[in-house]
Parts: sequence; structure tokens; C-alpha cells
Amino acid sequence: MPIATTNPATGQVLKTYEAMSTEQIDAAIERTDLAYRQLRATTIDQRARWMRAAADLLEAERDEIARIMTTEMGKTYVAAQAEVTKCASACRFYADRAPSFLADEPTDAKAVKATRAFIRYQPIGAVLAVMPWNFPLWQVLRFAAPALMAGNTGLLKHASNVPQTALLLEDVFRRAGFPEGAFTTLLVGSEAVDRILSDPRVRAATLTGSEGAGRSIAQIAGRELKKTVLELGGSDPFVVMPSADVDLAAQVATTARCQNNGQSCIAAKRFIVHTDVFDAFAEKFAANMSALRVGDPMDADTDVGPLASERGRDEIHAQVRDAVDHGATVLCGGEPAAGDGWFYPPTVVTDLTPQMRMWTEEVFGPVAGLFRVSSYEEAIEVANGTAFGLGSNAWTRDPAEQERFATDLDAGNVFINGMTTSYPELPFGGVKNSGYGRELSELGMREFCNIKTVWVGEGVASAGAGAHSE
Ligand code: NAP
Repeated sequence: MPIATTNPATGQVLKTYEAMSTEQIDAAIERTDLAYRQLRATTIDQRARWMRAAADLLEAERDEIARIMTTEMGKTYVAAQAEVTKCASACRFYADRAPSFLADEPTDAKAVKATRAFIRYQPIGAVLAVMPWNFPLWQVLRFAAPALMAGNTGLLKHASNVPQTALLLEDVFRRAGFPEGAFTTLLVGSEAVDRILSDPRVRAATLTGSEGAGRSIAQIAGRELKKTVLELGGSDPFVVMPSADVDLAAQVATTARCQNNGQSCIAAKRFIVHTDVFDAFAEKFAANMSALRVGDPMDADTDVGPLASERGRDEIHAQVRDAVDHGATVLCGGEPAAGDGWFYPPTVVTDLTPQMRMWTEEVFGPVAGLFRVSSYEEAIEVANGTAFGLGSNAWTRDPAEQERFATDLDAGNVFINGMTTSYPELPFGGVKNSGYGRELSELGMREFCNIKTVWVGEGVASAGAGAHSE
């Protein structure tokens, strides 16, 4: 893919960039290696001051950053502003909480025949972050804030369609005070990832993106014996049971499907509704989806902007056409808008069958699949019946059913009577083909730490040091 800013609302190419040469990549890796030696010698208080300065810069420059994001990938300006604000608070969260997340953790010294034994969390070095365009600031920040606070450095290979957002992030961390090279944007295509991850100075990788990219990076990392965290696709179920508040469920379902123009890994994508409330839900949901305003993402009244790329728009339309050709029913939407830009109307498709692409594939746009089920068991079977397992939603006011959903939904998270979202306080990640490892919370921070065991004995023969070995 060319590295370029192309406005999805108009299809106009606004700015193009040359990919970095191998010499430039090597020099950047050398700088990050030097920065790592500097950063790991700094105190956590010092890093927290820089991280808070980064938060201040993001907040002060919120509107300009949001405008760039909207221009590069088409999310509404209002959503882009909220994303910048969320990033600033995540920076502050990790600045405030890193000292406790990384504090030495004492263990039972007597049980291990030590005078003192504890776990120490230490940085591991440069981490390569391969990131997607859909939340171009948040996806990077939720890796970068804990990584830098832990004393690691970051090498960002961002999606090729958001180069300006990628460069401004590097600039923010530099101006916040982090040493030169602590956070570096590499303007490279995906073909450069093998070379970068194979470099011994790069210690690990995190990818947020598609299944295909995940497989590719996991193969390289396997060959090089490097740790990875993979945050991949999802086809999240949104189950509605008879005890649910159907009006509220249909309202939240609309946001859950169409947030970020329908391009969120944790967007609800398959709406699995009990037959007792199916008709009422379907009617309200289709009405809500039809009422959304599609248009210029810079306009404050717009709910749904364009898809980020022509290829993305064509792909969801092909999935809808495939369903219709195999007998599905379109309740609303279903045809791309005429004119410039890559707009697609909020769409609801029902009467789906396992032969259709929409049954198994992730649909990355404002298109909902609606499924009718007649029991709790059938709801679970359909909900878990994909290769993905990222987020999940269940709507029920029955406490016993809530407990069952929490256990039975095969996903990295279960949100009951609410839509899936990410919080710095909660771990985030998936199971099955949605990836492995976790981001956010202290668990996300520790993914790229050396979890070091420290055992201290008395140093005299009677203490039994070295009595057993493994
Ligand atoms: P994508 O094609 O996989 O791109 C994501 C990143 O991976 C980009 O930087 C891309 O670079 C790079 N890439 C692609 N193929 C690669 C390869 N073979 N080797 C190395 N790097 C490679 O994903 P997308 O279609 O743009 O983004 C949407 C996907 O991301 C969806 O499946 C969505 O569900 C998933 N996602 C997951 C999460 C999560 O947290 N689980 C969050 C957001 C999005 P180029 O741009 O240069 O191709």
C-alpha cells in the first residue's frame, strides 16, 4: 500500500510519503536501542512527568489532531475529539498507576527457603507496534503509554493510510520530554516488518489488525523467538433475551454497530435475538439504523462518515450482496451511496444461513446481521459459532441468565446490558482467532516486562541454597 493521506470523504489523495530506506530503518533501530539504555536508567517519577506532559499536549492540541484523524480515515470529528481526550486520560492513568503496577511483589520467602523473595517487573527493550487505522491514536496510545512507563521503547509501524497521525504521535512524545528515539514512527510498508522484527535489538511485537497480519507476524516472531501480543478481528455477538429492555437494547445496538462508521473490532456485528422479542427488536433496530445521518464527517450532525477505503466499502457491499444472492432479506440500507467518497448506509440483513459469508466473516462497516433464536442454548451456539472471540454482549435482566452468559460466552470480554468498550482499568483482548495476550490494566503493562524472580538467601551453608535444581 502507498503511504499516503487520502480523504475518504472525497477520495482525494492529499499527501504522499516515501517509505524509509533500509539504512534509515537501521539508523532508527540504533537510536531506539540507545534510547532504551537511557530510558531504563530513568526513574518512574521522571517517566510519569513526561507522560503527563504528553497528556497535556494531546489535550491542548486536541482539535488539530482530531482534524487530521478525520481527514485520514473518515471517523467523525466529534468521535476523533473524544478519542484524543481518551488517550490523554490513558496517559495520566499509566503515569499515576505505573508505580503500583511495577512495584516489587513480595512472595512467601519461607516457603521457598529464602530470607527474601520477590517479583521485580523490568523493561525488555524495543517493542515493535504494528497498528491499524481505525482508532489511529487510541490503538497506539494503549500500547505506548504502558510500554514507555515500564521503560521500554516503541517502534511504530502504523497503517499506511494514517501517516500524519503516526508522525504527530512521535512528535508529541518527543516534545513531552522523552529521550530522542524512545518512541519512533517508521514510515514503512508491511513488507519491512520481517526485517525489523528479526533485528536482535527489537525484543517483541504487538499487532492490532487482521487475522492475516496476525498469522504473518506470529510466524516471524516464532522463528525469532520473540514475544507477541495479537489483537485481531472480531464478530461480536449481541444477544437479546426476553427479559431485556428491548427499546434500550435496540438503541444501544445501533451505536454498538455504527460507532466509528462501523469499523471497530469490538463493534457488535451479529445480533442474536430471542424469538419472543425478535419482531419488536427488529423493527426498532432497523428504524434506528435508518435514522442515522450519513455524511461529511466534519459536520457535528453526522452520525456515520465514510468507510476508510474504497476497498473496505466494496468488501462490505460484496458481503451484503453474497447474503442477498443466497436468500437473505435486507431490512434497511444495502446499497452504497452515489457520488464521491466511500459512504455506505447503515444496513440490517436477516434470514442469514451458514452458507453466507456474513455468517462466519467479520463485517467491517455499518452492516448488522440479525439472527432469530428460540432458546438460551441456541443463542449461545450461534454466539460462539465463529472463529472469533473478542467481545460479546448479552441483554437480560434475569440474574441467573446473566451468570450463565458470563461463563458461557467464549470471548475475551462479556458486557451485560451495555455495549463493549475499552477502559484503561480493564484488560482487553481476545481468544480463538481474535488473538492472544492482553492490553490495558496492569496485565497489559506486564506483557512487555521481564517478570523477574529474585531470591535472596542468607549465604551460609545451613540455609539450603541450591538444594534442588531444575
Ligand atoms: P490490517 O490490514 O491487518 O492492517 C493492520 C496493520 O498491519 C497495518 O499497519 C498494516 O500495514 C499491517 N499489516 C498488514 N498485513 C501485514 C503483514 N502481512 N505483515 C505485517 N504487517 C501487516 O488490518 P486492517 O484491515 O487495516 O484493520 C482492521 C482489522 O483490525 C480488523 O480485522 C479489526 O477487527 C482489527 N482490529 C482489531 C482490534 C483489536 O483490538 N482486537 C482493534 C482494531 C482493529 P499496511 O497498512 O501498510 O498494510
